[in-house]
Amino acid sequence: MSDCLFCKIVNGIIPANKVLENDNFLAFRDISPQAPVHVLVIPKKHFEDISELSQKDLELSAGLMKTASEVARVENLDAGFRIVLNTGEDGGQTVQHIHAHVLGGRGLTWPPG
Ligand code: AMP
Ligand code: ZN
Repeated sequence: MSDCLFCKIVNGIIPANKVLENDNFLAFRDISPQAPVHVLVIPKKHFEDISELSQKDLELSAGLMKTASEVARVENLDAGFRIVLNTGEDGGQTVQHIHAHVLGGRGLTWPPG
């Protein structure tokens, strides 16, 4: 996906503030943080959203959750955190390359807007 923003981050064409990386995933700080800790976790391979990813690769879906949990650990979010998968127009998804938001470092309200 040559025109995908997050594929460009994976390929090093656009810089990112990396938090961790493994064979299949990259985690980097959100450019517009909504909490003291706001990290995005993406698979290096392009999938549009959780619907596509879960249908095509359940193992990678589980790996996304595992990597998001690892981010919470390395960011010392012992008091709690939130993992968010905005999906589609109503879900507020603005980048069409699946990404899990890991938010923490303050008390988060519910319900979200
Ligand atoms: P969503 O609205 O769930 O699709 O989230 C997309 C997120 O990507 C937003 O929180 C943006 O702030 C974030 N974002 C957009 N461009 C960049 C970038 N170049 N580096 C890091 N985060 C970005
Ligand atoms: Zn992509």
